[in-house]
Amino acid sequence: MTGNENPFFEYYDDVLEILREYDVTISLGDALRPGCLADASDAGQLSELIELGNLTKRAWKKDVQVMVEGPGHMPMDQIAANMKLQKTLCHGAPFYVLGPLVSDIFPGYDHITSAIGGAIAASSGADFLCYVTPAEHLRLPDEDDVKEGIIASKIAAHAADIAKGVPHAMDKDNEMAAARHKLDWDAMFDIAVDGEKAKRFYEQTPPAERHTCSMCGKMCAVRTTNMILEGKEVKFCSER
Ligand code: SF4
Repeated sequence: MTGNENPFFEYYDDVLEILREYDVTISLGDALRPGCLADASDAGQLSELIELGNLTKRAWKKDVQVMVEGPGHMPMDQIAANMKLQKTLCHGAPFYVLGPLVSDIFPGYDHITSAIGGAIAASSGADFLCYVTPAEHLRLPDEDDVKEGIIASKIAAHAADIAKGVPHAMDKDNEMAAARHKLDWDAMFDIAVDGEKAKRFYEQTPPAERHTCSMCGKMCAVRTTNMILEGKEVKFCSER
């Protein structure tokens, strides 16, 4: 409207001098990221990505570290290709994504639409996930929204670490499997990322005996298998 260029773009080299002096990493944002599924991978997003690649090189030339911001909203089938494109066009710079949200019709649940996209993005090369709360697009998040958003994002990151074969990423999952086999509830609550919630849910409908949960009661498949392995007789009908 004023005919002037964005000052951060016009004086980018001066900004880089300041960042270099104070050893600051610059985050190159994507103002043209898709704000809905229909905009994903459009010419605006991709031409901006090429420009971000140029800005990355200019920053590196001045010895300034860079991370590049990515989408946004995106159908699932486009996410992996977008991660590869970014890595190529931005010369391997670390990429962080805002979601991507894989659907536009779940306001109130966008921590889930975002975590689904985040898991695909992270397992396809994204280096950092920005969490999204259930309040996204609706209001400022409260404390509970922040917790839900962070946990959803941690699930996506953890699932991607396992898929990428990051050493020891699955250790806790293996510990959980062993605790479940033993029906050791206290161990399960300790291992759980949100053990407090897990324990609250378990105690809300307490089973008659702690060697099952209220889902199947004495029909518990784990308990039955353990009894068989221990050579005990299984008699559901006569059992009290
Ligand atoms: S009762 Fe059912 S849900 Fe609960 S631990 Fe046993 S098999 Fe799993």
